[in-house]
Amino acid sequence: MNKITSLFKIQYPLIQAGMIWASGWKLASAVSNAGGLGILGAGSMYPDVLKEHIIKCKKATTKPFGVNVPLLYPDIDKLIEIIIAEDVKIVFTSAGNPKTWTSYLKEKGITVVHVVSSVKFALKAEEAGVDAVVAEGFEAGGHNGREETTTFTLIPMVKQHLRIPLIAAGGIATGTGMLAAMVLGADGVQIGSRFVASDEASSHLNFKNSVLKAQEGDTELTLKELAPVRLLKNKFYDEVKELYKKSPTKEQLVDLLGRARAKRGMFEGDLDEGELEIGQIAGLINTIKPAADIVREIMSDFNQAKINAAKL
Ligand code: NDP
Ligand code: NDP
Repeated sequence: MNKITSLFKIQYPLIQAGMIWASGWKLASAVSNAGGLGILGAGSMYPDVLKEHIIKCKKATTKPFGVNVPLLYPDIDKLIEIIIAEDVKIVFTSAGNPKTWTSYLKEKGITVVHVVSSVKFALKAEEAGVDAVVAEGFEAGGHNGREETTTFTLIPMVKQHLRIPLIAAGGIATGTGMLAAMVLGADGVQIGSRFVASDEASSHLNFKNSVLKAQEGDTELTLKELAPVRLLKNKFYDEVKELYKKSPTKEQLVDLLGRARAKRGMFEGDLDEGELEIGQIAGLINTIKPAADIVREIMSDFNQAKINAAKL
């Protein structure tokens, strides 16, 4: 047992990130059944869709699972209402102020974790009363911090100041990466991109296949004026890059982004016009597998990496 396995009552300190258009009930329940912590990504779900996914997840697993609520999306109060009504025990908030919801959720007996990208926000989350912090480095896919602090530097810096349990995220897809993060001071890890390339992720197969094809250097953090987001380079990304050459206003960036780009790319599989959110570690991902196999392989690699590290 360590701080993370005892906090969530799970077997391994391995958490599957709640990713929009990827983390539905099939993925979350598969990860929880395999001994990790599965998380539903509520950011892309209308309230009634979230309710349906929670109900299906409860039927598919008796193990603990959580819901990620990225606070920059609409209808947060309705999502929170459903989480409470459906008796979900674990909530990860992200992309917003941890003070907004933490005490309310804690009053309802929910374990609350907040995702941050800097030391300053980690301490703000601790002060807000969260049970643990996910510190996510610059390598991570999707929405991310502006500071460009890498996981390798962020984890030891957060660790120096934080008293509550620390979960590392960004750039981790293997047991070796998991061990490295834990050696740097993390009590557990959150893994996103690796689980996009799983059978159970609700992402479109076109997107999953583009993750397999991705190599080092194929993603970039952009749209910092709106909300920084790491994207796989595609036609839409090229259009963003072209627009940047003209020193665009924020409104011009919003216009180019338009509506539902993320859904178009990651859920409907439009690889040209859609927005494709994935981490730098996609360059290391070459296979689509059942989520349980991914969990098993990460844990076996983790144990082997410990043996290898002892020989150094
Ligand atoms: P199911 O596989 O049961 O499908 C539910 C519905 O989604 C079906 O009508 C299905 O259409 C449709 N659907 C499935 N894949 C796609 C796709 N690639 N593009 C367009 N439509 C698709 O899904 P779940 O029970 O897992 O999910 C129920 C609903 O939740 C979905 O409709 C979706 O909107 C939403 N969802 C949201 C996620 C998120 O991260 N926000 C994740 C997963 C689902 P058909 O009948 O043709 O198969
Ligand atoms: P959009 O705001 O472009 O569109 C909303 C998408 O979320 C649609 O696909 C919609 O599904 C789905 N959705 C799920 N729940 C709801 C809900 N309760 N109300 C409305 N739509 C819902 O989506 P993005 O994912 O691109 O952006 C989400 C948020 O992040 C927005 O607030 C946006 O301003 C902000 N943002 C996003 C950036 C990015 O890079 N994507 C950059 C900066 C800010 P459906 O199509 O089925 O209606």
